[in-house]
Amino acid sequence: MTGSPHLAEGDTGLGATDCLANSLYGLDRWGHDLLSVTEDGDVGLINPLQPDHPHVSLPQIISDLKERGVHTPVLLRVSSFLESEIRRINESFAEAIERTGYKGSYRGVFPIKVNQQAQVIDRIVEFGRPFSYGLEAGSKPELVIALAHRLPKDALIVCNGVKDAEFIRLAILSRKLGFNTVIVLESAKELETVLEVVQELGEEPLLGVRVKLANQISGNWAESSGDRSSFGMNSDQLISVIDRLRDEGLLHCLKLQHSHLGSQVPDVNDVRRAVGEACRYFAELKREGVALTHLDLGGGLGVDYTGEKKATENSVNYSPEEYCANVVETVGYAMDEAGIEHPTLVTESGRAVVATSSMLIFDVLEATHYDAPTAPEPQEGDHHLIPDLAAVHGYLSEERLQECLNDATFYRDELRALFRRGYVSLREMARGEQIYLHLMARIKALAPKVETTEEVDAQLEKLADIYHCNFSLFQSLPDVWAIDQIHPIIPLQNLNTLPDRRVVLSDITCDSDGKVDRFILADGISPSLPVHSLPENEPYYLGVFFVGAYQETLGDLHNLFGDTNVATIDLRDDGGFDLLHEQEGDTISEVLSYVEFDPRDCVDVFRKMVDEAISAKNLKASERKLLMSAYRDSINGYTYYE
Ligand SMILES: *Cc1c(COP(=O)(O)O)cnc(C)c1O
Repeated sequence: MTGSPHLAEGDTGLGATDCLANSLYGLDRWGHDLLSVTEDGDVGLINPLQPDHPHVSLPQIISDLKERGVHTPVLLRVSSFLESEIRRINESFAEAIERTGYKGSYRGVFPIKVNQQAQVIDRIVEFGRPFSYGLEAGSKPELVIALAHRLPKDALIVCNGVKDAEFIRLAILSRKLGFNTVIVLESAKELETVLEVVQELGEEPLLGVRVKLANQISGNWAESSGDRSSFGMNSDQLISVIDRLRDEGLLHCLKLQHSHLGSQVPDVNDVRRAVGEACRYFAELKREGVALTHLDLGGGLGVDYTGEKKATENSVNYSPEEYCANVVETVGYAMDEAGIEHPTLVTESGRAVVATSSMLIFDVLEATHYDAPTAPEPQEGDHHLIPDLAAVHGYLSEERLQECLNDATFYRDELRALFRRGYVSLREMARGEQIYLHLMARIKALAPKVETTEEVDAQLEKLADIYHCNFSLFQSLPDVWAIDQIHPIIPLQNLNTLPDRRVVLSDITCDSDGKVDRFILADGISPSLPVHSLPENEPYYLGVFFVGAYQETLGDLHNLFGDTNVATIDLRDDGGFDLLHEQEGDTISEVLSYVEFDPRDCVDVFRKMVDEAISAKNLKASERKLLMSAYRDSINGYTYYE
């Protein structure tokens, strides 16, 4: 809970527009280098590759896209954000290598599972080319994607995950085309399959071995590290794999050690500890005579979603530069100590590379208020609880705020009980509720001016408005639903005016889980989001940031809301933007076929029912066209509110 949950009416203690977005939403902490506020109070996109160029108004982009027929909800991918992150990680490693005198190089790979979309992978390959950046495949389909790209000749393709003979065959044969495809052995059993395929093809593989580290990292993904993680081998299994390879005369094929640190590692010292442990294995394997040349440290580089710079689930206490420096330094020292040549460093950072490059933008459809601007007068014959409620207005003051809140809630609850038992009419009840809601409006306005107790704050939080929004949490923000992921969310416009409402967000699905009620604000995590009253005749947009990692493919078809429209843009030097690619969201007909309905059959059945109704004279023949086009328009349209 963060201080007083409600904003004072007309309280404009804040000056510059930048200042409001920063002091209220903490934009400068989580959005720095990427987002700003324009003079008009719009969220602006900064080109991180050219930060001095004019910032591009995000609401302006959305309204331009709308003119071109791309409606909200829309997932916006910003190409320059992606390019900047790829440069950042590669250049940070290069810089740390240079500075510390590390003798090896860095060859990163992008783990395809984090965002498999063609538009994203194609760009990653393009932006990564100068750095010989490669790809990581965790499954056969992902390997098929990787092999459909022309990678630089010294880039890697690292194959992780469970592999069958077909997977292994393709990986080995791809080397004939010049790919450096490494098969990372996950288990002793997998080695047997590899040996069979090697026998069959008469070709040597490029091998890696996945070592399970005992070090457990903290955070949301703690389970993906340590003793009980599902992948990798322990020391005993490693020994048997090495012995087996030696027996088969293939030990020289084992070039890479893989030790995945986990995901979204919150504490940089966990990184150091885990890397240190990985180095010990590396040194021991070298001592065993394994010709290792590459040390792959997997994923784990975290994103500071909340900007708090803390070792917590949605934040990290380090920067990408610090991560790279620590990795290089730790490996350098460990190898020097063991008297081993510095290996080529590989990491498989996914989240940190793509998270910031996508944002979800949606419009607010309507508001449910839990207060009222005015109240009706009690009437002759009303139950006495109604004038009792109205009387609270008379003694409401800063000093008696809690008392008034208690009284009002008591009278309102009693009134509801009487209504249920039949002693109060619907009209009386409506009057009572309105009087109560008006009281709450006055209490919300007073609350910021006094020291409120936690109990009062909690009660007032329950009176936050609900903004009903045009998106599906299950389709577009699955981690918010599944693991309480926090993404920064802010209004895209009007940021030079102090917001006058507090809200929680509800999505368009009919599921009560489809809501967002944890927000990152400047002073911490809050159960409600400050926003403006909805404008009369114009859209009010909200943006959810840093959704480029994992969200797109993890999303599901709850209520059959499909993929949103997607637009990939590039920021221009003059403050405008270029639309690089547009992907129309799913139509209803598409989502129907995902669940095995044939849309043509649906149309046929509907048409038959229409014709039968005409035969039975329940429908005029002239109405046939109207019904059929209503059905067809729906089936061909967007699944979201239009
Ligand atoms: C998921 C995964 C990654 C990506 O992890 P991030 O935390 O997103 O960087 C890397 N390597 C392997 C083996 C993975 O399973």
